[in-house]
Amino acid sequence: MSELQLRQSIIDHCLHMNAIGLNQGTSGNISVRHGDTMLVTPSAIPYGQMTPDMIVAMPISGEYGAWSGPKKPSVEWPFHLDIMRARPEVGAVVHTHAMFSTILAIARKPIPACHYMIAAFGGHDVRVADYARYGTTTLSENVLKAIEDRSACLMANHGMIATGPSLEKAMWAAVELETIAKQYYHTLLIGGPVILPDQEIAGVIEGFASYGLQSKPEGAAAA
Ligand code: 13P
Ligand code: ZN
Repeated sequence: MSELQLRQSIIDHCLHMNAIGLNQGTSGNISVRHGDTMLVTPSAIPYGQMTPDMIVAMPISGEYGAWSGPKKPSVEWPFHLDIMRARPEVGAVVHTHAMFSTILAIARKPIPACHYMIAAFGGHDVRVADYARYGTTTLSENVLKAIEDRSACLMANHGMIATGPSLEKAMWAAVELETIAKQYYHTLLIGGPVILPDQEIAGVIEGFASYGLQSKPEGAAAA
């Protein structure tokens, strides 16, 4: 994908996350890795008014916090950049103020293994990052801790973050996270969930490695 297509794709995904109710207004932000550059949404621009040239470019391994573009980067550039730097497998970061994820984050409730899909985030739970004010490096530090060995986390009194190898996969993960947050929230209203054992989640993670593969992995013996 060319850089211009990638910039347009970021805007399309922003519009999509608001259209499906995963976010609202100018809340939330998205970044995508493009070589050694991070492309990130500008701050406080309504998604309907965003144009590809407004997407901000920031060096990943170069000068920390440098940026180019006609608009300022999202105030949350520190956690987007720090995730890109610390986690080479991450190609995109989606941050939203999705309703049920945010309700759990306000109540400071990590999501346990109430559904096998928790395994999609890399372990038996999705943690809540400790509270720090939006846009701070302390928030970024807290996020990096909460997302360790995971691809997503909640953020206390704020929202959620989902990552993926591509923007499509990060957005898929954000939708799945909000879904499990909604399921967990409602289960709490009817007496609480039955939690799956760690060993079962480990098995599901193993299964996910081949789930959806339509052909044999390379090197597998012919049937
Ligand atoms: P930006 O508009 O600066 O991206 O901020 C939105 C937000 O969600 C802050 O946490
Ligand atoms: Zn936010």
